[in-house]
Amino acid sequence: SLKCGIVGLPNVGKSTIFNAITNAGAEAANYPFCTIEPNVGMVSVPDERLNELVKVYNPKSIVPAVTEFVDIAGLVKGASNGEGLGNKFLTHIRECNAIMEVVRCFDDADITHVLGNVDPVRDVDIIETELILKDLESIDKRFSTENKMARTGNAKAKENADACELLKKGLESGHSAREYIGTSDAVDLIIQDLALLTAKPIFYCANIREEDLENKGNAYVDKLKEFAKKQNASVVVISGKIEEELSKLEPADKAELLKDYGMDESGLDTVVREGYRILGLQTFFTAGEKECRAWTFEKGSKAPQCAGVIHSDFEKGFIRAETLSFADFQKYGSWNAAKEAGVVRTEGKDYVVQDGDIMYYLFNV
Ligand code: GDP
Repeated sequence: SLKCGIVGLPNVGKSTIFNAITNAGAEAANYPFCTIEPNVGMVSVPDERLNELVKVYNPKSIVPAVTEFVDIAGLVKGASNGEGLGNKFLTHIRECNAIMEVVRCFDDADITHVLGNVDPVRDVDIIETELILKDLESIDKRFSTENKMARTGNAKAKENADACELLKKGLESGHSAREYIGTSDAVDLIIQDLALLTAKPIFYCANIREEDLENKGNAYVDKLKEFAKKQNASVVVISGKIEEELSKLEPADKAELLKDYGMDESGLDTVVREGYRILGLQTFFTAGEKECRAWTFEKGSKAPQCAGVIHSDFEKGFIRAETLSFADFQKYGSWNAAKEAGVVRTEGKDYVVQDGDIMYYLFNV
């Protein structure tokens, strides 16, 4: 399944946030196909739409979508040279589909900052540089093989070599591979083949002190936001310490504490939703008196593939899908009312499933 890797310098709050994710963890029994490793946290994706379905159906069982976060500790300056076991960690990042970078935005004299002082933009820059250096290594290797083949008159190899050169120049001047996605087919091919680290979608998680929650940030966060805006990246502001506390509480106590801090929802909920979003994941629903359930699919999937998320037999035997958009469900208040109004559609194998669709599959067994 798709995973979001948690990276950041030491002592920025990664473990604290990862612990909160693990505590909040989804009920594993519902997800038999997920293998859980100690550094992987599986967590339910909060979704208001599922709550609304539950209100209407009052089902025996409720199963939210889940997403996985991987704790990738140990990224330090010099990691790309193998310092501090750095190379191993960079390999772990390669296996993730997106990155959440935790950035320290709190002062605390008792908690050492590895570089002496708090400076979010510099910290982001350090990590970015390590990732760029690692990508340059991959590109250099590929560049030289493509060049060799290009010299024998291989036109495809020439295109690929040019793509490598473009990327190399860009990365050497401090750009990330992300900025080159879509430049040409050859560039996209190289980025994908090499699984470049700086091409992965990224968002920043600004970790602030609980005292700053009231203002939803501080001057450090402002600097980080300004920087992220230029990169088209988003920033989620949380206080790791509070999230860890919140994650241990029962719902009622949790609501109380959130109110105390003037928050509508926990920062973790925001983090999880953002992770789900940048992974390119969407949700369809199945709903009935027995179970209301959110299912995850990759944006752009067609109806049979989505049926396959539920069970491989559903994909093989797919006939058609009765489909209701979430907006129409809300408008008419129930499946039956929507059906009477004629807005429940019959969709075939070429239908591209939309985020929020409520589906009822018909299939051959
Ligand atoms: P990691 O090295 O990035 O995994 O960082 P840790 O999660 O181990 O956190 C380093 C230290 O910072 C620990 O002593 C945490 O208790 C503290 N810390 C983490 N998040 C917060 C926070 O939101 N507020 C405060 N005051 N301290 C925090």
